[in-house]
Amino acid sequence: MRCPYCENPDTKVIDSRPTEEGHAIRRRRGCENCGKRFTIYEKVEESIIMIIKKDGRREAFDRSKVMSGIVKACEKRPVPMAEIERIVDEIERGLNNLMEKEVESNFIGELIMDQLKKVDEVAYVRFASVYRQFTDVNTFIKEIEKLIGNK
Ligand SMILES: [Zn+2]
Repeated sequence: MRCPYCENPDTKVIDSRPTEEGHAIRRRRGCENCGKRFTIYEKVEESIIMIIKKDGRREAFDRSKVMSGIVKACEKRPVPMAEIERIVDEIERGLNNLMEKEVESNFIGELIMDQLKKVDEVAYVRFASVYRQFTDVNTFIKEIEKLIGNK
């Protein structure tokens, strides 16, 4: 972090401790150039979205998890990384536009499937088979028939 007094990029943390409520960390930093000290606060970004999992547990939305799920589904498919990033951006934007603090994990799964369907059908079916946990061949075939029917 740059020194606010002299713009020197080398500043050191002297002390860090949680604030009284524990929602933030307060850090004292010192500049190695001008010797001045300043305080910064670290806290969770307000726009954080919690995902409600099937068993009711909550977990913060994690972009990298969405990304790795999609990457897995697109393995050995002609889907460029830039396209995968675009999908993740789209999903993140969609969530932020909802203005909800909590979203069910199902909802995100559906968003991902909607996007994959447009990009690569094999990736879509792969993702859906993991996500919907197709327990037998029939549900799997039904999903593929739906997909073909949509064409
Ligand atoms: Zn300084």
